[in-house]
Amino acid sequence: MKPGPRLTAALADAAADRIVYDLVGIEGQLDRLRAELPGVQVRFALKACPVDEVLRCLADRGAGFDAASPAEIRQALRTSVPAGRVHYGNTVKSDADIAEAHRLGVRTFATDSVQDVLAIAEHAPGARVFCRLATSGDGALWGLNRKFGCSAEDAVRILTTARASGLTPAGLSVHVGSQQMTGEAWQRAVDLLAEVLVTLDGLGIAPDHVNLGGGLPALGYLDRHGDPLDPPLDKILTVIREGMERLSGLTAGPLGLVMEPGRHLVADHGAIRAHVYRLTGRTLPDGGHARWLYLSVGRFNGLYEMDQVSHRLLFPTHPDGERVPAVVAGPTCDSDDAYGGGRHPARVPRAAASGDPVWILSAGAYATSYTTRGFNGIRPLPCVCTRGPEGQH
Ligand SMILES: *Cc1c(COP(=O)(O)O)cnc(C)c1O
Repeated sequence: MKPGPRLTAALADAAADRIVYDLVGIEGQLDRLRAELPGVQVRFALKACPVDEVLRCLADRGAGFDAASPAEIRQALRTSVPAGRVHYGNTVKSDADIAEAHRLGVRTFATDSVQDVLAIAEHAPGARVFCRLATSGDGALWGLNRKFGCSAEDAVRILTTARASGLTPAGLSVHVGSQQMTGEAWQRAVDLLAEVLVTLDGLGIAPDHVNLGGGLPALGYLDRHGDPLDPPLDKILTVIREGMERLSGLTAGPLGLVMEPGRHLVADHGAIRAHVYRLTGRTLPDGGHARWLYLSVGRFNGLYEMDQVSHRLLFPTHPDGERVPAVVAGPTCDSDDAYGGGRHPARVPRAAASGDPVWILSAGAYATSYTTRGFNGIRPLPCVCTRGPEGQH
């Protein structure tokens, strides 16, 4: 998978390190998702890419936002998106957070406990609530289980409590885990939602939406062994379409679909221009030999997720030439700031020299948001958004 022409131009143009986002690519990704899931309400999980220009282009195209704090809500609202298209998707929030979100105009909240739903009733009276059901996280690179979601029995109790407290029991939600690699996980989520919708129907509670959360995969990652992950996106989308058809048959009124994609919209449309610090070879005390490629970018300034995924690396000044196995590492003094070690090294140019540019692909998700303030004095990457060679700014 090669970067598209707009990313390639922006990367080639960069004389120094930066992260670049292809706004046209991100818009296209949103359009494709809406074509695959007609009628879906997209609420971009903005923690995946809290870059104002990216958010504005999504809002201008009709997307809304899944926000996790008052600060994220304020950032979302800066795009001029109507507050009605922003929901508070974090089940973890204080009384003050709820009150502030309500003051900012947010009227839809996710919840997964009686304690939280009573706090919403007090500090955001009359709000719409979605109860988040727990999932196993199986099949995902990041499971997001245990901390979030409740059992089917709890969900019924929570939405009954919501109704009794003057809230609107508007929906059920799930998150099947981030970079979910299987259609089965969504199938299990649909089965669970069906079970709870039927129980709620018996109690006269008819949610008007289900929210299938985030978890839609990015396509361009490599696994820890350097092989393409190749998630079955088409199958996943089919499961979601068929699942929605089935769920719609279980409720009295119409049932809308909300999704909260994060990485799926941005990961493959962002890339990092980094540079080589040095390619070294060392003999180790045990007699082994280790070759390491140190780069200017690593875990703390753009590649936080390197435990689970690795990224395609392009060396534009060495398109051909001999490749050698190496562990790839970031610039800091942290030994976790490395990937491609052990039996699965990356392949890098033998001729790589200090200062050579390196392009790191599929780096658009969870890069800026997980960057440290400057661990070891390594500054956050400047961020550039492009619309192609003519439209760069
Ligand atoms: C992080 C998050 C998302 C986005 O997850 P992705 O795997 O990036 O799509 C969506 N919804 C909620 C509630 C989240 O916490």
